[in-house]
Amino acid sequence: MLDRKVVELLNQQVTKELYSAYLYLDMANYYKDVSLDGFYNWYKIQAMEERDHAMLFMEYLQQNGERVVLEAIDKPDKEFNEFIDPLKAGAEHERYVTSLIHDIYAAAYEVRDFRTMQFLDWFVKEQAEEEDNADTMVSRFELFGSDAKGLYMLDSELAGRVYTAPSLTL
Ligand code: MG
Repeated sequence: MLDRKVVELLNQQVTKELYSAYLYLDMANYYKDVSLDGFYNWYKIQAMEERDHAMLFMEYLQQNGERVVLEAIDKPDKEFNEFIDPLKAGAEHERYVTSLIHDIYAAAYEVRDFRTMQFLDWFVKEQAEEEDNADTMVSRFELFGSDAKGLYMLDSELAGRVYTAPSLTL
């Protein structure tokens, strides 16, 4: 039996991860609209990863005999005026998600819920990667994105990202 506060936060995280998927789909659609199909591909796959994260939180709750309650997913409301805007918003969003994961971890730690802490270890590591990837996208765009040829090459490179299922299994 999991602690009620821990369950509440894990349940909220299902919706938060689905919101992340929504946000990245919105970014993908922005890039599709301006014919940057590589960026579109990169964010579409990012959205698939976020959906996977939601499923992992859902299945972890189920594995522990908890009923999952799906809440409303907020509408993505970020404004994108320049090509770099989604990249910056993505980096900012990942830092927010890291803080959410840390909050759940802190709640689990408080009640000596070692099982949930071990489950969350994967996400702690994953968030370090997500933040690094997002920051790298911003810095590479700042280096190469202002030049048409550089942007073309960056877009071509991002077109090569392929989806892989998360390495975490329950
Ligand atoms: Mg996520």
